[in-house]
Amino acid sequence: MCTRKRRYRSQGDALDAALLVGVERQRSAYRCPLCGHWHLTGN
Ligand SMILES: [Zn+2]
Repeated sequence: MCTRKRRYRSQGDALDAALLVGVERQRSAYRCPLCGHWHLTGN
């Protein structure tokens, strides 16, 4: 379930977070159909 994942308000927020931790090459953001927020793919 997505409840254990970090949620972002927008795709930009999610990608900014990925950038900060240096994983933007490995991850991308997707809009979650369950909560309507954005998560990063991967863990
Ligand atoms: Zn979600």
